[in-house]
Formats: sequence, C-alpha cells, structure tokens
Amino acid sequence: MRVELLPSCVGATAAGASGGESPQFLVSYLINSEVVIDAGSIGFLADLDRQRQVRHVVITHEHIDHIASLPILLENVYEPGPGSVELLAAGDVLTFLKRDIFNGRVWPDFFDLSTDEDAFLHATPIAAGEPLQRAGLTITPLAVDHCVDTLGLVIDDGQTAVAFPSDTGPTENFWQHLAALPRLAAVFLEVSFPNARRELAAHTGHHCPATFAQEVCKLSRPVRWIVVHRKARYADEIRRELDALDLPGVELVEPGRRYLF
Ligand SMILES: [Zn+2]
Ligand SMILES: [Zn+2]
Repeated sequence: MRVELLPSCVGATAAGASGGESPQFLVSYLINSEVVIDAGSIGFLADLDRQRQVRHVVITHEHIDHIASLPILLENVYEPGPGSVELLAAGDVLTFLKRDIFNGRVWPDFFDLSTDEDAFLHATPIAAGEPLQRAGLTITPLAVDHCVDTLGLVIDDGQTAVAFPSDTGPTENFWQHLAALPRLAAVFLEVSFPNARRELAAHTGHHCPATFAQEVCKLSRPVRWIVVHRKARYADEIRRELDALDLPGVELVEPGRRYLF
C-alpha cells in the first residue's frame, strides 16, 4: 500500500518556521492512486492527472482543514457522463456538505445537479463498524473522540493494514479494534497542541505529546507511529516535546513522501 500525506502549503518553506520542515495546514492522504482520505488539499494538487485518478473520497469529519479543497477537486475532475467521484462520509457530514458548502451560494449544488446520466458526485453514507471494499482495499470506519463526530479509518489491502484515526483526543474503541489486527504496520496519529495547551487539546478533542504517549501505550505491540496534524504555530514546540519523550517507533510525518507499507 502506498500512502502520501499531500503537502498543503504554497511556495517555499519558511526556514526556521518549523525547523525547515514543510508546515502542514490541511489533511489529504492519497492511498495508492484511487482513494483519498479527506479533501483538505487534494484539489490543490498541481498534477491534475493525479486528481483525475481519484475515484473515492472518504471524509472523516466536516472541519475545514479536511474539506477545504473538496469543491475544487470535484470541479477539476468532472467529466460529462455517468462516471464520477464517489464521496463517502457519515450521513450527517453529507448533509452538512450539501447544506453549508454545496448550497448554490458557496458552490454549486453538485448533489442535486448530479443525475444518473451526468454526475458530479455519487454520495455514499458510511457508518462506524461497517467496512467497505473499494479499489482493492477494505476501509473500516471507526468512531474516535473529537469535538465533532469523527470517523477514524483502517485501510487494509489484504497484506498490510494502516490506521488513520483522524482528529481525536484520547479514545478507546479504535485501539481495541487495532489490537486484533496482526498485520497493522503504522498509525498516523495526530498531535495538535503542545503540553502547555493540554486543556485546550482536551476541550477540542485533540492530542498533546503527553496524551499521545498514553495512546501509544494502549496498543501493546510495536508499530510505526507517524505524527501528523501539528498546528503550524506549535510545530517546533511539539517536536521538542516528542523528542524528549523518546518513544520507540515514533516519527514525524513528511508531507509529500510516498510511504510504502
Ligand atoms: Zn477536526
Ligand atoms: Zn484537522
């Protein structure tokens, strides 16, 4: 399985802003070439051919860093005819997208404009604990604990499984599910805030390094822990705090790197 967290910033990296790393503002993971998890930046990808190869867009929740480029993606990849991108999200999220984004003001109503013969999108509701098969992958949504209802995802290609808990604070069921997955190779887990903002992290359903470390202990076997979702203004502070914890198997994500599992 190939996984890429797409870069989300325009222009050269500001040296020193986050230790020379590329700051991360938006969330889109490209899985192989046909599946994308969240649409934060996929629609801004300069390579339009890669956008056009996407057939299934799974939205974990409605926050703007996870949907910012969805209207642009659907516009970019539309071709007249019945074939279209499939948009998969919880039923409530599909309702929010139609009401608040694709409402004929912010953007055209691609839901109502789509017909069997000519579609901008096909919407498929998904639910926690109900796996789907798409593009040779088993996609299992599982509830996590964020400030809005959010579905973490486990993607399994039959040989390897990779977990994407999306935005979440401390949670339980997700880790219990992973404990029964022998071929789990990696978890892309968020750390949004530094320890000094632990209360804010708890209030908003995010992690700081201290709670991240507690989550790592909940999974009692070694996997790669790939840290994502560091808020740009705290990126350096979070990196220093994670370094100090010296947890085995923990690494910072590199946006644009193609991870092979
Ligand atoms: Zn969120
Ligand atoms: Zn987010």
